[in-house]
Amino acid sequence: MAQMDHNQALQLQAAVKYVLGELSQVQRDEYEEHYFDCAECAVDIKALATFADTTREVLRRERESQLAKELVPARGGWLRWLQPVVAVPVFAALLLIIAYQNTVTIPQARGRGDQWRGADSVQFACATRRQHSGRRGKDSRDSPG
Ligand SMILES: [Zn+2]
Repeated sequence: MAQMDHNQALQLQAAVKYVLGELSQVQRDEYEEHYFDCAECAVDIKALATFADTTREVLRRERESQLAKELVPARGGWLRWLQPVVAVPVFAALLLIIAYQNTVTIPQARGRGDQWRGADSVQFACATRRQHSGRRGKDSRDSPG
């Protein structure tokens, strides 16, 4: 195996490609043989490896913080979207139900109550009055009824 000389290594940008894993197996072996004997290439490899590790670490941290940032506003954004779009129709529906009860259901029920005034409702009223006086106990005995 022919050893790579320093000029060949520079021309090939062997240090960068070695760190990035872009050298062929043969080039890799040749360059490794060279940089063990070449202080300049050894320093290049070390610096580039450190740079690559640092870059990878920085990118990883940036990605993590970006993910964290994306997650937190996403939740707030979801709530911001949820409040006006869903809450307003829900409140509108509730208002409609209340308005319907006040204008249609309750007057109808009152009308029915008027129709039902008769023997049954009087008995019902007496029954409830008895229950109330029974619950009151002593006080109801004082007043004649
Ligand atoms: Zn060299």
